[in-house]
Amino acid sequence: MSTQDANYNLLESVVREIGGDDAVKVASLLDPTEETTDEAIAAGAEMKLNAVRKVLYRLYDARLAEFRRIRDKSTGWFIYFWRLKPNRVEELVINRKKTVYRKLKARLDYEQKYHFFNCDQNYCPRYTFDEAMENNFKCIECNGELRAFDNSDIIKNLSKKVKELRKSLKESGVNVDQIDTGIEEQTGQIIATTKPTATADSTGNSSHGSK
Ligand SMILES: [Zn+2]
Repeated sequence: MSTQDANYNLLESVVREIGGDDAVKVASLLDPTEETTDEAIAAGAEMKLNAVRKVLYRLYDARLAEFRRIRDKSTGWFIYFWRLKPNRVEELVINRKKTVYRKLKARLDYEQKYHFFNCDQNYCPRYTFDEAMENNFKCIECNGELRAFDNSDIIKNLSKKVKELRKSLKESGVNVDQIDTGIEEQTGQIIATTKPTATADSTGNSSHGSK
């Protein structure tokens, strides 16, 4: 199922942030239901036992993995049995989706709220209407003439992604309307406090084109 693949990709990126390629290797050998020993993981990942343990404790710190230990009666040493924490994995995946959703939704709102202008050069920034007007419709970077920039493709792509994420978050029981309200408040603050700058990321500070 594609949702499952997407969840797996998200999990992988979270794990990679925690401990790089080694962590991805170790996590791929962990299972939510079946326990594995650090020694089995070391053998499977072709890594040194110490390196595996280091990664496992990082995953444990991030509450991604948990362990059970028993004392080996013959040696007196502890044996650790590791597994992924299934609920936590789901929680992380949802959190990651929320973060991506917030970013994309804020970007979509921004694209829909303003009219943009640009010159003929790809490497020059985009301008909001007010920024373009302040500069007499000349590009600050190259002095080229600024023309209306059609962002309908950007809006189309963003809308599609936002819609998909919204659906998937709703299926996970997340109150997406509440997230939307938070984004609107945030966007309002950014617009109220940010001075206009000639960058593509600028939100501008005017009421032009507001809903
Ligand atoms: Zn330019």
